[in-house]
Amino acid sequence: MPEDCIFCKFVSGKIKVDFIYESDNFFAFADANPKVKGHTLIIPKKHFVNSMDFPDSLASELFEAIKAVAKIRLKEGFEGFNLVQNNFEAAGQKVMHTHFHILPRKKGDGFRLNGL
Ligand code: AMP
Ligand code: ZN
Repeated sequence: MPEDCIFCKFVSGKIKVDFIYESDNFFAFADANPKVKGHTLIIPKKHFVNSMDFPDSLASELFEAIKAVAKIRLKEGFEGFNLVQNNFEAAGQKVMHTHFHILPRKKGDGFRLNGL
């Protein structure tokens, strides 16, 4: 684990976060600068940079985590969600520990993903 990775420090408990969900290999917490209400980040507990070094063997557990977090948000009254992952700086990735954004949505909330 890179010493200076803030997301690794969330996983190890060195820095406290607003915990949402955890499984064997994944951890989910509230985004500190939410783009929408309920904005959640899902990260692998092990440090991978992005999709390019993320192991295929974790793909099914990743989708379990995505659906578990989405279920929590849908139960809260959200009606849908966007799943976003930025890969490399050119695509807007700022934290170099791969993470998957869950952006809960409601009809007519006015939120727009840039370019989509
Ligand atoms: P990205 O642009 O895809 O790399 O997204 C990084 C995300 O991490 C942004 O949505 C930030 O708001 C979020 N973030 C950065 N630092 C923290 C932190 N200390 N706690 C929670 N979320 C963070
Ligand atoms: Zn890390």
